[in-house]
Formats: sequence, structure tokens, C-alpha cells
Amino acid sequence: MDLIDFSKTRLLTPGPVPLFAKVAQTLSLPMEHHRTPGFEELLTNVWADLAWVFQSPSAPLILTATGTGAMEASVANLLSPGERVLCVDSGKFGDRWATIAEGLGARVHRFSVPWGSSLDLDEFERLVKENNFDFVMSQVCETSTATIHPIKAMAALIHQHSSALFLVDAITGLVNVELPMTDWGLDVVLAGSQKVFGLPTGLAFVALSERAWTKQKTATTPKFYFDFLKERQANMRGETAFSASVTLIRALAEALKLFRTWGLSRVRKRSERLALGTRELACDLGLDVFSQSPSPSVTALTLPTLIDGKKFRLTLEEKFNIVVMGGQDQLMGRILRIGHMGAVTNEDMLTLSRGLFECLNLFGVQISETNWQKAQTKLATTLGEELA
Ligand SMILES: *Cc1c(COP(=O)(O)O)cnc(C)c1O
Repeated sequence: MDLIDFSKTRLLTPGPVPLFAKVAQTLSLPMEHHRTPGFEELLTNVWADLAWVFQSPSAPLILTATGTGAMEASVANLLSPGERVLCVDSGKFGDRWATIAEGLGARVHRFSVPWGSSLDLDEFERLVKENNFDFVMSQVCETSTATIHPIKAMAALIHQHSSALFLVDAITGLVNVELPMTDWGLDVVLAGSQKVFGLPTGLAFVALSERAWTKQKTATTPKFYFDFLKERQANMRGETAFSASVTLIRALAEALKLFRTWGLSRVRKRSERLALGTRELACDLGLDVFSQSPSPSVTALTLPTLIDGKKFRLTLEEKFNIVVMGGQDQLMGRILRIGHMGAVTNEDMLTLSRGLFECLNLFGVQISETNWQKAQTKLATTLGEELA
């Protein structure tokens, strides 16, 4: 069984993700100060590369926070209490948008979408037409259900019927889903380091449209550390407002260099192949894909109802050293979520396939060795070449 090795731990979660070797190497470099010409030059290059990744009208801000910090900061910098917000609530992270906005005093309408479904555009249009929302908030990819939403069509409907700003959580959507910010009229696009950027956890990025910068001027929600204007002014001087996370930004510079070398379409195609391979494998092993609108960044597989999903996931981890995520809230114990971001290798995937096969047999789902062999051959073909 070539390329199957259970001795090594395989991180196949939808964030954090395995690091590329060149990124990992930067993490042990000697510390340097963030207010030095050398670091400021690195920052300037990083901002330019980030603007290229985001296809944003100006350089995205770099926040020392996880993705949720960028979500809260975006709301705090743009919203005034009492304003009206439409939140697409199709899972754990959509619920988070709504909870943040409510906490900061917005009047929130939750557009509840069944978990695993993409939103209904007719209903969405009716909502934005009939209400005078100040903001619409959505995920590109709702990571908890591995589902993507039609952001381009949503943006067009919002701008056709309202003057609402569109805030887009692209934490697992950026790069893997095409998202031209200016062309589509997205007002805020945010991402985090430990997902599509393939970095350790701890940085978040926020890109704003000119409309969003204008709105920011009149927003009355209090803030101090995450003050976008203060950060932008510091950036214009070539620095960050507070101490920069030198280590993570150096790693980011390396990840962006890799993206430049490969091209974003190759990074996207790699994720698409990992996702497709996972969906085909699921089918071959008799498992269902949970989402009706599956994501290229993460795949959710539905386990047979007879199987205790929590035990299954733990067995995969303890017996086979394969770490995937389970479901959250209503999906707890029912699904497995497998990530396709970062330095996932073919060996990781082929080992996952064997691990799933052995685990399913352990849990009483009989799959023959011959059928698995066929599935494995197909998987290897679908995966194609790794990014290197
Ligand atoms: C991971 C994730 C978040 C939250 O990010 P943290 O880094 O855990 O704060 C928000 N939205 C989506 C879609 C995510 O996948």
C-alpha cells in the first residue's frame, strides 16, 4: 500500500491547516523590531500582495486577531447602533455575524437558511427589496456546513434594490472562490491566516471599498484597538498602529510569495481537486456529501445514522493519526468535515482514504478491499499534481 503511512499525524481540518515548508521555516527566524526599515519594506510588499489576492481597491488591513476579531471589528467600524442588518444565517458562522451585530446594537433580521443549503435568491431579493437594510452580511463559504453561497448574484441584488453595504466573510472563501471585490461591488471582504492562507492562527485581513471607508466616517460604535481609520493612517506612514506580529507577517510574506509563484488559479484548482477527490471517495465508500452546494475549501460527509460520529472521528484520530473535524451544534456526531486548504498532500489524502475504509469496516460498514482499491486508484488520478 504505497503512500499510506499512519505513523505521521495528518491535519485535515478546515483550519488550522498544514503549513508549507517554506512558511514553517520562517517561524524560527530571529526576532526583529517592527519599527525598522527592513520590516517596513516587508510590510509594504505584503500589503501589495494582499491587495492582489483580495482584488481590492486599496491594501487590506492586517489585524492581530483571529477571523472572528475581523468580523467584530468590521461591524464596530461601520455600524451605528439602531441600524438595520440582514444576516444570512446558514450555520455556525452566519449565526456569529448576527450575534456580533446584535451585541453592537444593530436591529438584525436573520435570514435562516437550512443547514447545507445555498440560499434562495428569490427570497433574498424579496427581503432586500422590501426592507431598508443598512448592511447585508454573509459567508462566502459557511464552513460549519461546507456550503457556498452565490455572492455575485447576491451583491447584484443588493445594489439593485438598496444602498446597503455588503460585508462578506471570505475566511474559507477567498482564493478558492473567485471574488473580484470591486467588480462585484463587495464592501468588506475578510479572511484569516489559518485557512486559505495556510499560516498559523493569529492574523486576520480586512479589505474595504471606498463606500465602506465613507460609511466608517460616520459610524458611532465605540472602538479603540480595532480602529480601522487609525490603522489605515499608520499604514500610510508605512507601519502598523500597534506592535506588529513580526513572526506571522514574515510567514505571510512567504505564503504570498508562494501564491505569486503558483498563481491564484493553481491554488484554487488544487483545492478544487482535493474537494472533488473527497466527494468521489465519499461516493465510492457509500457516504453522502452533506451540502447541496459543496465548497472547494472544505467537504462535509454524512455518516450512516448507525454510526456514532463522535466515536468515529476519535477513532480516526487515535488509531490512524488522522485529524478531521466533526459537526457543530445540530450536526454534532453526524458529519465529518475535511479541509482542502494549505499544504495538504496526496499522501495525506490517500492515507485518509485508507483510514476511512478501515474505520468504516471497524464500525460495521463492510467495504471490500477490491472496491477500496478501485476508489484509491480513482482518487490518485483526480488529485493530480501537488503544489510545489
Ligand atoms: C474559521 C472561520 C471563522 C472564525 O475564525 P476564527 O479564526 O476561529 O476566529 C469565521 N468564519 C468562517 C467562515 C470561518 O471558517
